[in-house]
Amino acid sequence: MKKFASKKLIILATCGLLAMASPGAAAAPGAGQGPAKSPATPQSTIKKIIQGNDAFRHTHQRNHFDALQTGQSPVITVITCADSQVHTQLFDFEPDNNIFIIRNIGNQIVTSEGSVDYGIHHLSTKVLLVMGHSSCSAIKTAMADYSNETTGIKTELDTLRPVMEMDDQQDPFNERWAQNVERNVDMQVRKGLKLYGDKVEAGELAVVGAVYDFNDMWGKGHGALVVVNINGVTHPQKIMNHPVLNELSRAEIVTHVGSRAK
Ligand SMILES: [Zn+2]
Repeated sequence: MKKFASKKLIILATCGLLAMASPGAAAAPGAGQGPAKSPATPQSTIKKIIQGNDAFRHTHQRNHFDALQTGQSPVITVITCADSQVHTQLFDFEPDNNIFIIRNIGNQIVTSEGSVDYGIHHLSTKVLLVMGHSSCSAIKTAMADYSNETTGIKTELDTLRPVMEMDDQQDPFNERWAQNVERNVDMQVRKGLKLYGDKVEAGELAVVGAVYDFNDMWGKGHGALVVVNINGVTHPQKIMNHPVLNELSRAEIVTHVGSRAK
């Protein structure tokens, strides 16, 4: 029941508040139309989340909240994109008190550095997961002229410029788009290693870069979490033999390690 209620809340959120189109958004490659949604209004959206909260409280017993009375002890810090197509149910792992999550456009450490610092230094999470995703609108927008965007958006896209400078613009657009998503994940991992390299050296932290691939652009199946970087190691064969993956089976490793890099 508990799990069902969590999923229900996420569905409500996805259908309403969080499903607004972002600037520069486009149909994802291979994406279907999805179920039709009635037009949202502020009133219908707030009604959905209030009624959803009542349903959540009804299905979550007091002991769910008892566990939250004495502070948090998450095991992982996740920095991911604000995109409404991306949510932590993809891990099928109870997020409450387990996942310290920071979100912004383009899953960037540099635009949320203090929040990431908090997860690593104050909460001592064991993994910093930088999670990009297929068809990221932030990356797509940064690949074009975004001079007409707001100052706030421009500020958070300017920090993606080093990724764009690595794009030789030779491949078809969707190929470049995916490559730039991965290049950005790699850039964020480099930033993470710069900030927290001492903890990585001490074996207290792993900085992992991955892509949540709901378009199957990385060829591991729709919805796969594809690991593209572990502590700066980006070659798939070397990632597959990385000690951080020691507790996975060979089949799990093969299914979840990949790269679109040239
Ligand atoms: Zn995105």
